[in-house]
Amino acid sequence: MTTAYVNGRYIAQRDAAVHINDRGFQFADAVYEVFAVQDGKLVDVEAHLDRLDRSLSELSIPQPMSSRQALKLVMREVLRRNRIEYGGLYLQVTRGVAPRDFPDPGGLEPTVVMTAWRTQPFDAETAMRGAKVVSAPDIRWKRCDIKTVQLLAGVLAKTDAHARGAAEAWLLDETGFVTEGSASNAWIVTYDNELITRHTDTAILGGITRQTVLKLAAQNGLTYIERPFSLEEAKAAREAFTTSSTMMVRPVVQIDDTAIANGETGAFTRQIIELYGAYMRGGTI
Ligand code: PMP
Repeated sequence: MTTAYVNGRYIAQRDAAVHINDRGFQFADAVYEVFAVQDGKLVDVEAHLDRLDRSLSELSIPQPMSSRQALKLVMREVLRRNRIEYGGLYLQVTRGVAPRDFPDPGGLEPTVVMTAWRTQPFDAETAMRGAKVVSAPDIRWKRCDIKTVQLLAGVLAKTDAHARGAAEAWLLDETGFVTEGSASNAWIVTYDNELITRHTDTAILGGITRQTVLKLAAQNGLTYIERPFSLEEAKAAREAFTTSSTMMVRPVVQIDDTAIANGETGAFTRQIIELYGAYMRGGTI
């Protein structure tokens, strides 16, 4: 039986529910985090919880629990009850329940929901398989740095990507620059062996995997630059990949109809995958 957590209760997932007047349901007035689990451990748990704190504070949603320690205790209990060694944990915090009306009435008790699932353990061989991405206009709002559950633009872009045989959509701003993926951060490697990913601002989500890959690059003497790159530059790059807690480091070998270099996962990307795999297994930071 899969167990979910809803507002202080561990409950069979099929019976788990929130109120129809939950502001998460009515207005997407809610934030979330997705954690990877490897060897029974939550990968980069503190960084994810730091980002959760920031999302909550940007929206003036109060902390849902007395302390981070209390929240982590529940997260670990959800993993334990579902016997998750390898997989993921989803955590959502909404502003709470109130009769449907736009303004925040204030004083609501936040809703907290958690679910967890199993996946295969990280395997470098599988992780090195190249994927196709397609480009799509970035039609999202202007605060993509806040990890809200308001994900409709990403849902539409990724659905269309899958329909076109692609694993992900890379989103383009009005000037033809890649902001990020529908649910991941976008990277390229230039022919000067520079690792490029867009700088963080309000136009993209500061990915935790992105942050870890940057740290691993620095530790291993790889050159990286945080700057925007265009779709044209990406198509002409030596290598490309996309990162998220669930996709980890996913090689990109085709963008729209253009193969990246020879259409195979490149050496630089392979190195990043090895480093990230070792980091998750042992933790090197
Ligand atoms: N950008 C967007 C829009 C995302 O939805 C995600 C994944 N939630 C990411 C980037 C990657 O973030 P992370 O590495 O923290 O999973």
